[in-house]
Order: sequence, then C-alpha cells, then structure tokens
Amino acid sequence: MADRRIDILMYHSISERGGATAIGPEVFAMQMEVLAASGVPVLTLDDLAEGRIRVPRAVVLTFDDGFQDFAETAWPLLKRHGFPAMVYLPTDYLGSVEGWRGIASPPRPLMDWDTVHDLAAAGCGFGSHTLSHPALTSLSEPELDREVTQSRQILEARLARPVRHIAPPYGLADARVRAAIGRAGYATSVSTRLASATPNSNLLDLPRIEMFYFADRHRWSDHLAGRGRGYMLRRRALRAARARLLSPWAGL
Ligand SMILES: [Zn+2]
Repeated sequence: MADRRIDILMYHSISERGGATAIGPEVFAMQMEVLAASGVPVLTLDDLAEGRIRVPRAVVLTFDDGFQDFAETAWPLLKRHGFPAMVYLPTDYLGSVEGWRGIASPPRPLMDWDTVHDLAAAGCGFGSHTLSHPALTSLSEPELDREVTQSRQILEARLARPVRHIAPPYGLADARVRAAIGRAGYATSVSTRLASATPNSNLLDLPRIEMFYFADRHRWSDHLAGRGRGYMLRRRALRAARARLLSPWAGL
C-alpha cells in the first residue's frame, strides 16, 4: 500500500509541431508500445476517485486542450491498445483553434463537437479544461465559479453523461481555485506538478507525469519498471527552476 503508485501521464498535442506541448506521433506510438509491453494497467480517473485501484502500479492517460490531432492520431492508437483516456476540453474553443496565452503559431485546431460526440460514444472520457482557458488563480470569485461550473454543465448537456474531472489551465490552482472546483462537484483535478500519484494524494490536486521528458525508449521503460526515480527528481528540480524564470503559462 505504502509504495502504490499511479502515474497520470500528461499530453497535449500529438504532432510534429515541436515545443513543449507537442509530442511526435512516432514517440507517442513508442510510449504506448512500451507501456503495453510493461504490463502496467491503464486505468481511469474514475477508478482512482472511487478507490478501485488495488494494484501496486497503474497508469492513467490524460490529454489537455482537445486538439484535433488527438482524434486523428492518438485515439486510433489508444483504441488498438485498448487504453482508456481522459481529454480535457476548453469548451469555448471547440470547433475553432487555440486562442489563449502561450499558444503555438500558427494556432492548432481543436476538435469540434461532432468529433467529441463520436469519441465519447466510442468510449473516450472527457473532462473540463474550463470555458476559455484562463489562469484560474487570477480570476474574481464569480468568474472562477463560472469557468468551472458552466464548462461542466455544457459538457454534461452535450455528452449526456456526468463530467467529474477537470484540469485547470497551465496547472494553476491554489486553495481558492480548489475550493471552487470542489463546490462545482468535481471528483478530481489535476496539476502539472511532476510526480506520481499515490492512494493518499489529494484528489483535487493530483500530480502528473509530463511525457515530453520520456521521449527516450529506455528512460520510459526504466520509469515503468520503477528504476527512473532519480531522473524524475532531476527533471522536477529543473522544471521548478524554469518556472521561477518564466511566466506561468510559458509552454503550457
Ligand atoms: Zn491547456
């Protein structure tokens, strides 16, 4: 129990666009292949929230922003492996292109509602990435409540199913944001803090594993085999140093 570990993997775009929010299709295919070969089960955030994860090691797959390349490139591969996934959608931007701070140039297209609907029917999980992808920590209380509550209501109305999971944009959440997320009825909220989750993690402040750091096959298989802790701690230290130098939305 004490060393039970759940790695919540964080992806954005699966494309050759470069930058910290894109992973190439070949690297992604390798990461999924190594994951399948490792035998570590891929479970869902519902499994985590309901305390159903009883194995020593598990992985959860998450994708922020709802890019069109998720539908075209990531989903077919996930289906082939039988892996479940959670995609966090900024509802204002569906059917359009990314339009928030820190985006790529030219901006990348997001899925439209028809695509989201088809994927949901095929078993893909969807969560909120707010309405307009703001830094939630900078909003007034009414704006904060609107972003987390209305995005959930819109998704639930469109998908006709409960929406219980949220990813605050840029990983920015403080106690006030987490309280609003709890009030809105979410079961989990993920951050961009680089670490593995455990059964004792705060469900409204779950750490994730940035997969940009695991583009090397051996590093990734070592991590899955429980041999990569030193590397992850070094990446975390570098990431913290970078975060002090850059604005919070750089590259996310
Ligand atoms: Zn985002």
